[in-house]
Amino acid sequence: MSRLSRRSFAGAVAGAGAAATLVAQQPATTPNPPAVVAPPRPASPPPETQPFAAPIEFMRRDITMKVKPFPMSQVRVTGGVFKAAEDANRGYMGRMAADRLLYNFRQNAGLDVKGAEPLGGWEAPADGKHGTELRGHFIGHFLSASALLYASTGDKDAKAKADYMVAELAKVQEKLGGGYLSAFAMELFDRLDSLSGKPRPAGPPQTGQPQMPWAPFYTIHKIFAGMLDMHTLAGNAQALEVAKGMGNWADQWSAAKTEEHMQEILNEEFGGVAESLYNLAAITNDDRYAKAGDRFTKKRFVNPLALRRDELRGLHVNTHVPQVIAAARRYELSGDLRFHDVADYFFEEVSKARSYVTGGTSNGELWQTEPRRLAAELKRSTSTEECCCSHNLMKLTRHLYAWNPDPKYFDYFERTLLNERIGTVRLDTGYTQYYSSLTPGAWKTFNNEDKAFWCCTGTGVEEYAKLNDSIYWHDDRGIFVNLYVPSDLNWREKGLKLRQETKFPDDHTTSLTVTTDKPVQTAIRLRIPSWTSVARVKLNGRELETTAEPGSYLTLDRTWKTGDRIDLEIPMRLTVEAMPDDPNLQAFLYGPLVLAGDLGNEGLTEQMIIGPQGPAVRRPDGPPANPNRPMLEVIIVPLRAAGSDPASWIKPAEKPQTFRTVGQKRDVTLSPLNKMFDRRYSVYWEVS
Ligand SMILES: [Zn+2]
Repeated sequence: MSRLSRRSFAGAVAGAGAAATLVAQQPATTPNPPAVVAPPRPASPPPETQPFAAPIEFMRRDITMKVKPFPMSQVRVTGGVFKAAEDANRGYMGRMAADRLLYNFRQNAGLDVKGAEPLGGWEAPADGKHGTELRGHFIGHFLSASALLYASTGDKDAKAKADYMVAELAKVQEKLGGGYLSAFAMELFDRLDSLSGKPRPAGPPQTGQPQMPWAPFYTIHKIFAGMLDMHTLAGNAQALEVAKGMGNWADQWSAAKTEEHMQEILNEEFGGVAESLYNLAAITNDDRYAKAGDRFTKKRFVNPLALRRDELRGLHVNTHVPQVIAAARRYELSGDLRFHDVADYFFEEVSKARSYVTGGTSNGELWQTEPRRLAAELKRSTSTEECCCSHNLMKLTRHLYAWNPDPKYFDYFERTLLNERIGTVRLDTGYTQYYSSLTPGAWKTFNNEDKAFWCCTGTGVEEYAKLNDSIYWHDDRGIFVNLYVPSDLNWREKGLKLRQETKFPDDHTTSLTVTTDKPVQTAIRLRIPSWTSVARVKLNGRELETTAEPGSYLTLDRTWKTGDRIDLEIPMRLTVEAMPDDPNLQAFLYGPLVLAGDLGNEGLTEQMIIGPQGPAVRRPDGPPANPNRPMLEVIIVPLRAAGSDPASWIKPAEKPQTFRTVGQKRDVTLSPLNKMFDRRYSVYWEVS
């Protein structure tokens, strides 16, 4: 969420309707390659017949979820890379002092900052130089992450620190008045109001000229969500009172605008403020908050989605994913199918037509091409896959799965989890990535201790505090085991415990052991991933004849008693995935694991790894090297396939899950991308 690209995006939106125009106005870091010709598309229906043409009226009618995740307090992650990621993140969060996090809020309200040192980066205080208008956003994420950490591990220190922050932020809210709670003055909202809908002056900003503020509702949403999470997951009653104040403020602010002007205001990134308003409506049973949430429906964005049309080109990805999560929540509270269709189509399209092999999406924070033009998208710049987009898409997946428990959702979730989330956090420090670059010769870059606080740092602390939230789900018939993660499940209501022991994804087997108070009749459904060949299952040591197709569930419906044990084998194999618009541009996977070729670490320094938002890797068609910023050239290693089966020319190497090409001009060693740290790598290859 760089300020530059988001700003120019919003400016472009304000001035034009055509997606192609938006792309042309991006501050491209590289000259655009030749435009990909889009297939002709039928014209949009006239505005008056579009799904959201009529006024949106909220009527509370909760839908019935087909499946539910087990509460986080009933599931514990117990080992493997997942526990290591959880611990690393917990360490990073633990090193952050509450008074430092509160600095900007107290300063904004004229309260004592208690001698704390302010943070840097996007949390730099008002007198800082960079990114200060977003200040406060990370504190919202931190509250959510603390609540998640408490729910997932029982960490009382994390809860105590966040409880203190809620109490201190309540004082800030009291002082600011009217329910408003922020680390910046209301003046940002005045500018948002007065500048929305006005044409933006061309050229660089002039001193003294009022500027569109940097996404104030985006930041409000993070704090709002943090308070709701502290209430829902950590039982903090005061946090709900603070959230109600914030909801009242947002209701009053938005109610004072005409619908037309609100639509103009929604051109500036506003995050998932509607989602928080819907959640507050659900908790309080007060429809007023949901009606306020409806005012944050950006009609120009949701209309084509409800018609199942991809008009995403040129849009800023992480501005829009949270709006779709809000639409999903809106459907859950009302049954309004328009919102269902927005969420359902958006996920299908983005996961299938706009995601790379890792599950990640975006380039330079945008979708810059037409769908299924991913090779062209990849070449637009080196800034692929903004991490917070993956975080939010996985969040959306959970909603869709609850409506329709199709294992395909967990094929996507697992691939993104293993390649784009595990593997983008450093296990030594808990630092996380912003862009996860797929340019050949890229390397992973990370935030530093206290001078970054990007959007992705915020979603990062949440991500690794909730790795237990999607492993086990249930319905009336029993349990769904969706992820293979070492973990314990305690289904208290049934008196049944499951212990999952596995080295997955380092190994392709898992075992589940049952403990019961008394024998329990229930179904245990095991997800058989679509990437495996033939799954094999043993019950109490005896191989079962029943099996299930990849991409379905294997159901074991019986009476379970203490000591019952399931052993599942889901063999991995080497596969190729080519770009839809360039069959020669290929990536290799082993099971769900994307493989990366090791290109060495020559020229890499710590300052090129810790601190930057993405790798300073220069494409041949890129801009000239910046003398003040050390850059490394891309490394393109062409490969020649010796057959359609990759196993014929990519052979297992000594280490497990490691392969080596044979018969190439330059042979390369391939191993899981999620273990590639401090090395240059390639994921996509030109294969002839
Ligand atoms: Zn981000």
